[in-house]
Amino acid sequence: MRNQLKRKIKKKLQSYKVELNAPDSSLPFNSESGKKVAVIGGGIAGISAASNLAERGFKVTLFEKEKFLGGKVGSWQFESNGETLRAEHGFHAFFRQYYNLRDFLKKIDSFKHLIPIDDYIILLQNGDQMGFKALDETPGLNVWDLRKEGVMNWKTFVSPRSLPFIQLLKYSEKKSFRKYDNLSFEQYAKKTAMPQKMRLVFNTFARAFFSEPDKMSMAELIKGFHFYFLSNDHGLLYDVLDDDFQYTFLDPAAKFMIDHGAQIKLNTPVNEIKKMEEGFVVNNDHFDYCVLCTDVQHIKPLIQNSEGFSKYNEFTQKIASLQTSDRYAVYRIWTDKFEEKDWPFFVFTDRFEALDSVTLYHKMEKESTAWSKKNNGGIFELHSYALPDHLKTDDEIKAKLMEEFYFYFPELKGLEIKHSYFQHRKDFPAFHTGLRDSRPEIKTEVPGLFLAGDWVKMDNPSMLMEAAYTSGAIASNMIFEDEGLQENQLFSVPKKGLLA
Ligand SMILES: Cc1cc2nc3c(=O)[nH]c(=O)nc-3n(C[C@H](O)[C@H](O)[C@H](O)COP(=O)(O)OP(=O)(O)OC[C@H]3O[C@@H](n4cnc5c(N)ncnc54)[C@H](O)[C@@H]3O)c2cc1C
Repeated sequence: MRNQLKRKIKKKLQSYKVELNAPDSSLPFNSESGKKVAVIGGGIAGISAASNLAERGFKVTLFEKEKFLGGKVGSWQFESNGETLRAEHGFHAFFRQYYNLRDFLKKIDSFKHLIPIDDYIILLQNGDQMGFKALDETPGLNVWDLRKEGVMNWKTFVSPRSLPFIQLLKYSEKKSFRKYDNLSFEQYAKKTAMPQKMRLVFNTFARAFFSEPDKMSMAELIKGFHFYFLSNDHGLLYDVLDDDFQYTFLDPAAKFMIDHGAQIKLNTPVNEIKKMEEGFVVNNDHFDYCVLCTDVQHIKPLIQNSEGFSKYNEFTQKIASLQTSDRYAVYRIWTDKFEEKDWPFFVFTDRFEALDSVTLYHKMEKESTAWSKKNNGGIFELHSYALPDHLKTDDEIKAKLMEEFYFYFPELKGLEIKHSYFQHRKDFPAFHTGLRDSRPEIKTEVPGLFLAGDWVKMDNPSMLMEAAYTSGAIASNMIFEDEGLQENQLFSVPKKGLLA
């Protein structure tokens, strides 16, 4: 019976993978036009656009304001107490339905660095933990199995107040956003009398989008649940890179771009773009196309400062309406002790005030493991995805993160921090209520200008790194279409939920 149901669900959800486009193989693959493309911003979206376009023979220049590639998956060196160490922007999970990003990892020979996480765990304040490894992987049946973790019980399934939970299985871009984009997760939880543990799972999930529950759009959350949990049969398990991003992702990506003739200009901010009659001038060079892949925080001043865009009202208004999310913090510490627990590399914590997750780097990345062995210590990364307003200074934030870290790792109290790297930032795109309608799309009304990043509006439900990669790849496909070239095949989880 269960197996029959599984087959039906798989069929309904199109085997969990759909083609986003239908490339015409009769069209030429390579561009002979010598056309030039400026890609501004070297995060995953920029790497995606630059790689896909350079591969086809476009003359690509990638401008990145920092001294390193990668943006929010960046990695850099720093000196501390006589040692040269590396810090990354923060821990990253590669979910198995990141179809397009994972294809790119294969292309640049990075896929071999992916290693699986043992479980998706949330540590609770009462000392218990919830793990999601044992759930049925089939969408729908995984929801039913949440009973095993106490996330819901049979009453949840029969109570009339719980009827709205059905919405989770009914994701459809237009309807879900029309109905739920103006409602926050907090409001929804109150309305549905959401069971405590279910609320906890959702809270943790909402924070992974750097939002507090009272700000997070319920439609974005339904989309997130669809993308991560209800549209594929990978469960909530994922993979991580087995060493620093520099070696496992950024160096191979840079090599791929350079081998295909792209120029990568690091330390090169673009402060102004001039829209010309034909094409654009960026940093004194003329380009036929421009793909804008900066983060939300930096795109606004760039467009305000640029020439020739004022007549494109819709575009400039949409850019002006973009918002960043709450402040967040990433605190990596190199210590003289490590835990002896049998926990996965990454654990979520039921947050008291600041701490949302802990990554055990000494178990995960090769360079960190080597440091740990040599120094008999641990390397931990503490994240707060949405800092409360009352924690203002770096010292206050660090102290609170450590206090909560010791709650979950009491045996490490009194450890010595030998080195540390602290980031306190506000550059993540807001997925708050009511923002969907004004969110800009990849194709703009400005001829030759495309947008890419985890913040652009797309009609496929990908999110975070996969959204960044996919948007860059779609922008490239749009340029291929303009130039009469064959598109690259892209994929997605099904666009609609099981009951939509
Ligand atoms: C702490 C943390 C943890 C995360 N964990 C996960 C995870 O586990 N899984 C997941 O899928 N996603 C995760 N994410 C989200 C993921 O990192 C992002 O969705 C993705 O990396 C965004 O890529 P992007 O290219 O859109 O933007 P960005 O990475 O922000 O890249 C934008 C780039 O543009 C550059 N730039 C800006 N302005 C200019 C200018 N004027 N001139 C030149 N360059 C400019 C910036 O320096 C930057 O390099 C996490 C994010 C953070 C912060």
